[in-house]
Order: sequence, then C-alpha cells, then structure tokens
Amino acid sequence: MTQARQAHGSSPDAAAPRAIVIGGGIAGLVAARELSLTGHRVDVFEASPRFGGCVGSHEVAGLVLDAGAESFALRNTAVADLAADLGLAEAITRPHAAASWLYHAPAETGKRPAARAQPLPATAILGIPADPRADDVKAVIGTAGSVRAAADLAMPVTRRQATEPISLGELVHARMGQAVLEHLVTPIVAGVHSADPSTLDADTVAPGLRAAMAKHHSLARAVASLKASAPAGSAVGGLTGGMHRLVTALVAELAGDGVGLHPGSRVASIAAEAGADGGWRVVVDGRASSEQADRLIIATPGPAAVDLLSAVLPDAAALRPATGHGIALATLVVDQPELDEAPRGTGLLVAPGTVGVTAKALTHGTAKWEWLADEAGPGTHVLRLSYGRLSDAPGAVPADDQALRDVAIADASALLGTELTAADVVGWDVVRYDAALPFATTGHRDRVAAFRTAVAAHPGLEVVGAWLAGTGLASVVADARARTAITAS
Ligand SMILES: Cc1cc2nc3c(=O)[nH]c(=O)nc-3n(C[C@H](O)[C@H](O)[C@H](O)COP(=O)(O)OP(=O)(O)OC[C@H]3O[C@@H](n4cnc5c(N)ncnc54)[C@H](O)[C@@H]3O)c2cc1C
Repeated sequence: MTQARQAHGSSPDAAAPRAIVIGGGIAGLVAARELSLTGHRVDVFEASPRFGGCVGSHEVAGLVLDAGAESFALRNTAVADLAADLGLAEAITRPHAAASWLYHAPAETGKRPAARAQPLPATAILGIPADPRADDVKAVIGTAGSVRAAADLAMPVTRRQATEPISLGELVHARMGQAVLEHLVTPIVAGVHSADPSTLDADTVAPGLRAAMAKHHSLARAVASLKASAPAGSAVGGLTGGMHRLVTALVAELAGDGVGLHPGSRVASIAAEAGADGGWRVVVDGRASSEQADRLIIATPGPAAVDLLSAVLPDAAALRPATGHGIALATLVVDQPELDEAPRGTGLLVAPGTVGVTAKALTHGTAKWEWLADEAGPGTHVLRLSYGRLSDAPGAVPADDQALRDVAIADASALLGTELTAADVVGWDVVRYDAALPFATTGHRDRVAAFRTAVAAHPGLEVVGAWLAGTGLASVVADARARTAITAS
C-alpha cells in the first residue's frame, strides 16, 4: 500500500495505518519521520526521559554542548540532507582543518620510551597509512616499522585476507606488521569504536577496504584509492550550535505533525497478532493495555532488539550482538589562554597502554569548531576527554564523577603539554553511556545479513539502528530512512 505523503502540520487520518517505533534515538526518530510523511499514525516509545539516544546536549559553564555525537561523516549526504529538510542547511559547518594528534610511546626510542604527542599521518583510514614510507608515518612507527609496513606493497593478497571473515587487527598485522597495528590503528580504533581491532569485523568498520585491496593488490594502495575517490575537504561536518540541534528539530517537526511522542516509556515485550491481516501488539511498561500497530519499527540497541524479538524470531537469539563497552565523557571548560594556540590541533588519540594517561581521547572543542570558540570567547576552552577501554584495569576509570574530573584535569595537562589546575576549570560535567557503542565482532556483517533475512519474513516489521547499520550518524540515518521507506510503502 502506498500512502500519499502527508503535508507537515496536518493531522494524520484516523483511518491511516498505525505505526509504532520502539526507541527514540536518531534511528527511531528518522524512522518516525518517514512513517509520518507517508501518512501513518505514528507513536514513538522511548525508554529514557529524553529523545536522541547518543545525540544530546548538556550545559557546562553556560555553554550548551553536545553530550554525545558532535559530528557526522560526509561519506554520504544522509545527515546533510536531513538537516536541510529540517531547516538546518545554514547551520552545517566543517571543523577546523588542523591535524589530529597521537599520544603514545613511540617505537624505536629505547626500552621504556617516554610518551609524547605527534601529529597523526595525514592520509590514512582508521590509521592504516596510504603511504607506509611517508615521513609522518615514519615519525610515529620508526624506520623499521615503515620498512615492514611497505612489504604490503609487494606481498600477494591471500584468499583469507581477501574474502574470509577477518578482524581488522589480523588484516593490518598480516599486511603491514605490528608497528602499524599497535601505534596507528589500535589507538584510532580504540578511540572511535572503544574496542581492540583484533575483535572488530574488518568489513563492518572499514566498508569497501577489502574489495579495494583485492583490486589494487595492497592494503596501502586500497587506502590511497579510497581516499582519492572521497570528496575533497574534511571527512566530517557538524552543526553550528551542536549536533543535538538535529534531534531538537526532528522532535519539533514530529510533534507538529501529530506524532505521539512518549518519553519515559520502555517497551517490555512485543507479539505478532494472529490472523491474515497480521499486525503487532506492543506492551509498554506501566500501561494497563497493550498497543496495536500495523507497522512496527524496532530502533533500540542490538541486545534489546533481539530480546524484544525473542518470541517472534526465536532463532535470532544466536545473532544477539555482544554488548558494547561503557564510555564516560568528562567535559572541562577551562580558562587558559595558552590553549588559544591549539597546541595539539583539534585533539589527540591515546595509544592503549600509554603510561600516565587514563583517557583514550581528547577533543579540543574550541580548536575544532569555530562557532564554539566564538561562543566561549578568547582564553576559554572546551576540552572533552573520553574514557573506557576494554583493556582498562578494574577501577581505572573512577565511578565517582568528581574523581573522574580530577583525572581528566591531569590527563588534559599531559596531553596538551599545558599545566592545568582545578583553579582553571570554570565548569565541568561527566556523562556516562552504558554499553553505548555496538560491538561489531568478526563475522558481524554475515550475522546482520542473516538477521535481516529473518526480519524480512515478517511483513510490517523493520529493525534499524547503529548495531545493524554501523556506528555513526551517516550510516544510521541513511539506513533508517531507506529501510523505513520500504516498510512504509
Ligand atoms: C559518546 C558518543 C559519541 C559519539 N560521537 C559520534 C560522532 O561524533 N559522530 C557520529 O557520527 N557518531 C557518533 N557516535 C555514534 C552515534 O551517536 C550512534 O551511532 C547513533 O547515535 C546511534 O543511534 P541509534 O538510534 O541507533 O541508537 P541510540 O542512540 O542508542 O538510541 C536507541 C534508543 O533506544 C532506547 N531504548 C532501548 N531499549 C528500549 C526499550 N525497550 N523501549 C523503548 N526504548 C528503548 C534507548 O533509550 C535509546 O534512546 C557517538 C556515540 C557515543 C556514545
């Protein structure tokens, strides 16, 4: 059934099919918008008190900052198109072009080298260099590491490397050796995915890389070709005022279009209705009667989605993804004019195991985003430190927020090479995400395909979100929009 696209602001027809979206993160909100635009009566049930999931805001020292995602990849136009549809085209902006840095104990400087900060190689994907012999690569991994990495240019690509399920760590180690894996790829992957590359599915975290490797007979040349075909300019964009504006605008549009928005409403269970017409029943915590829907979109994280579907797709239990890793973000707003020079570009990634720093990454927000520097004013800086690696010793990341703030001040001093004290801090906040990032272990892509085949056997049902689409707003928005459009038609 194809529904006429509904004009914004008009109430849905009472006879229109009813759709329920479970989970009000960006995937669920995008799905709700698609369903509303195709004439459905839509309700969104969100477990937490606010919409947006990993995209949200908080106020620190009078500045409204992103509490989660703060940028989006420009490899597709999904987020920019959505922002434009929501009237935010003018707000789309690019980060400052300065390099990201790496904080690590460099290779080849003795038995126990002191940690130091170095710019990351300019041309790379997830730390995999396009030119293993480049000076900025040698500076990080040393001459011996560079020679070993360059062997990739001559070695034949094995069948295992080209086609069998393989982790990113195994692939990089086999092609370019330990130094690239340890000093370049692991810090970046740990920063982006909160996981070790040896546990992550290469095809999920670096789509297209293996196909390009098979074509060009080298991992380095694959990186070079993908970088060459990427649009010029920075790889990410943001929104002036913060990415949370996307959620605010989406929620406002949905409310205006008569979509039922239900924060604080956790869905406890779902069931398929018997009969030829099908349909779904949804039980919401605290509601006496269940809700009926013709279309059902599940937009929760993976483990919750598989659990909700256990009665409908019992076999899917075997495809339940590993629970992601918890993350803590410590944001410091500091008065420290020495940071006006952006001593470490837009921020640093920290190599796992680097002694003396607990953080895995630092984003220098006021060096990265011009709008934020303007809002903060000269001499005032926004620093966001992220914590939480699988390899952390128990208790390494303090559970107490004040204690984590103190660790963050010490870490920021070491990472930026600028002494900061509690007296410099004019505001701070800690935001914690439990099991936030989906964990795409080796073989993930095949499990996603199997799961989607199982879902496709149930008309009116769709499952969206980062655990299937891949982490990041570009993947999540594009996928949620495309999949819901199919279900809605
Ligand atoms: C700290 C952090 C920083 C990030 N930074 C970036 C970035 O800069 N750029 C980028 O592109 N990506 C970034 N990401 C990743 C990106 O934010 C996510 O991939 C994306 O937001 C995931 O959206 P989602 O809707 O799939 O899931 P979520 O945002 O996790 O939303 C799922 C929602 O489902 C709800 N829910 C769960 N169970 C139930 C239930 N039973 N009933 C009802 N509701 C339920 C949850 O409360 C949640 O709101 C970041 C992620 C984190 C955690």
